[in-house]
This record gives sequence, structure tokens and C-alpha cells, in this order.
Amino acid sequence: MRKGLLMVFTGNGKGKTTAALGMAIRAAGHGLKVCFIQFIKGSWHYGELDAKERFSDLIEWHVMGKGFTWKSENLEDDAKLARDAWKMACEAMNSGKYHTVVLDEFTYLLHYNMLELEPCLEILQKRDPNQHVVITGRYAPKELIEAADLVTEMQPIKHPLKKGVKAQKGIEF
Ligand code: ATP
Ligand code: MG
Repeated sequence: MRKGLLMVFTGNGKGKTTAALGMAIRAAGHGLKVCFIQFIKGSWHYGELDAKERFSDLIEWHVMGKGFTWKSENLEDDAKLARDAWKMACEAMNSGKYHTVVLDEFTYLLHYNMLELEPCLEILQKRDPNQHVVITGRYAPKELIEAADLVTEMQPIKHPLKKGVKAQKGIEF
């Protein structure tokens, strides 16, 4: 018996995407399939993009759109990108192909009203009851937190950036 969990990693501290990656690798270690969808593409060359080559049979990777800016002049274009990305995520969740579907940085689409919250929650709640879903990103809406089975809030206590230490390979990307 498997109980599909909705898991949310939110908060302002570092570790949300890292936790989702850790879960993806943990599942892949058991030979379980994962679909990892990144809703926001950074400008860095992420180490995880190379790691996925090494797990290519188990972890499917999608980087959606050109990356959202939130301050875009063209909000309608961003909203369309968001809808297309969400549609892809829904297909992954309904496919029955994956043990876990990760929606990395998905909270921003809700926070910035790129997508309507209610229909998204409904789809998440009506998904296959075996399907695990991990959502990451700051500002998780309270309704998403209520709907989730597991929520962890990363709380920043110290971050090297404050001391002027720049992002490093293998640590942030
Ligand atoms: P990571 O990808 O390292 O797990 P994250 O997913 O929790 O981080 P995001 O909000 O997606 O965090 O931001 C990603 C980048 O911002 C990372 O390079 C991370 O080190 C940095 N970052 C996260 N939290 C903080 C913070 N409190 N202060 C400064 N930089 C931060
Ligand atoms: Mg992140």
C-alpha cells in the first residue's frame, strides 16, 4: 500500500530545492522513476542538470520556459508560459509513470497569481492517491500548506552570502 503524499518545502532558508533533489535521488536509488520539473530556470549551469545524465533512465528532467521574471513587461506571455508548464506537470502527475513528481519553485506561480490557486489545488487533491508530489519555493500559499501532508519551512539562521561569500559550485548550483 502506498499513500501518495503532497510535500511542500517552503520558507526563506536555503535547502528547499536541495531537499527535493535529495528525495529524487533517494527514489532513483530504489529504481523508482521521478519527474523533476523546474519552473524557474536560473542563469547558472546547475550541477543537478549533469547529475540527471547519470540517472537518465530514472530521473526525467524538464526546465520550463525561458524562466519567469515576475517583473516582465509582458505578463500575458509569462502567464501563458505558466499555464503551459502547469499543463505539463498535470500530465506527469496523471501519467502513472512516476513514483514522485517534483514541482521545483512552483509556489511562485501561485504567489504571483500566474495561475489560479483553486483549480491547481483541486487538481493536486484529485490526483492519483498513490502519486507523491513535492513542491518547493518561498511564499507557499496557506491553502497549499493546508492541503499538504508534509510541510517543512526552511528558516534562515545564517547564510554565507551575508558575509559576501558568492555562490559556489556544488553548493548552490
Ligand atoms: P537550494 O537550491 O540551495 O536548495 P533553495 O531552493 O532553498 O536553495 P531558493 O529560494 O530556490 O532556495 O534560492 C536559490 C538560491 O538562493 C541558492 O543559491 C541559495 O543559496 C540562495 N539562498 C537561499 N536562501 C537564502 C538566504 N536566506 N539568503 C541568501 N541566499 C539564499
Ligand atoms: Mg529552490
